Amino acid sequence: QVKEKGRDAIEFFNEDMADKVSRQLVMEGDLHRALEGKQFALHYQPKVDMGTGTIVGAEALLRWHHPTKGLISPADFIPVLETSGLILDVGQWVLETACDTLVHWQAQGWWKPGMRLSINISPRQFRRAAFADDVLRTLKRYPIPENSLEMEVTEGIVIQQVDEAIVTMRRLAEQGISFSLDDFGTGYSSISYLKQLPVTVLKIDQSFVRDIVDDHNDRVLVETIITMGRLLDLDVVAEGVELEAQFDILQRYGCHYYQGFYFSPGVTLSAFDTMLAEHTVSA
Ligand code: C2E
Ligand code: MG
Ligand code: MG
Ligand code: MG
Repeated sequence: QVKEKGRDAIEFFNEDMADKVSRQLVMEGDLHRALEGKQFALHYQPKVDMGTGTIVGAEALLRWHHPTKGLISPADFIPVLETSGLILDVGQWVLETACDTLVHWQAQGWWKPGMRLSINISPRQFRRAAFADDVLRTLKRYPIPENSLEMEVTEGIVIQQVDEAIVTMRRLAEQGISFSLDDFGTGYSSISYLKQLPVTVLKIDQSFVRDIVDDHNDRVLVETIITMGRLLDLDVVAEGVELEAQFDILQRYGCHYYQGFYFSPGVTLSAFDTMLAEHTVSA
């Protein structure tokens, strides 16, 4: 009987795997055409000062408008970009598009000193030996405002080859690029790494923020991260803030900045332009 079950389980597993592999292959084919087909876009989610309510920057979030399937979430296609290596070209496109946007915001007079636009960097991009060189070469082509570009990396990216990661980050930091640790708390979260790495921002993962109102443990965790960030002189950003009650707790704990649907989801460039322009007028 156990054997029967075992065999069923294996067949089920195989079908499931085969199905998954074929779906990934189809998606990979579609992704090969997506860059040329101009099917990618960046959306921009405001990053907001908890004290003043002003927009202090934005995070660029990749969007894929599939010709027949519509809008596909990055969670579904970034893993395929990663395994296929397409992430290198797409990552370069994200960097150039973000630079274009920064140039545009400055030209419009909407971009104030100290504001930052962040882009997400995937492991495969970051670990490439030529990553820093390529980024610096690209930046030379765009007259972006000083210190306006930030890169979001996860702990997993940097932890495997810490020394190499530090060298890469330092080189880029010398040219005014700042680094944030994304999804903080979900990875290894070693405090000794935190002290070594040239990061200036901690982003508390939204999984900790989600239940902060009801879950005592999450509340303790979030308060600890905020306190630790402050003690280490890092800016702390809470992700995924959807409710006033969450906002209130985070503010009470001394969190500096937040992103989330409570203020705005990621929006198109033109919608963000409107937000920025209004923000500047009222300031
Ligand atoms: P992330 O960098 O942690 O980005 C935050 C995610 O949370 C975004 O999902 C954002 O839309 C979502 N979010 C923001 N506020 C809220 C909220 O209040 N509630 C909820 N439930 N969600 C919220 P998105 O855009 O689907 O991106 C998912 C992940 O894909 C990102 O997580 C990031 O790791 C990756 N990603 C996005 N754009 C890029 C990119 O250009 N390059 C790379 N390598 N990865 C990217
Ligand atoms: Mg991010
Ligand atoms: Mg995150
Ligand atoms: Mg995340």
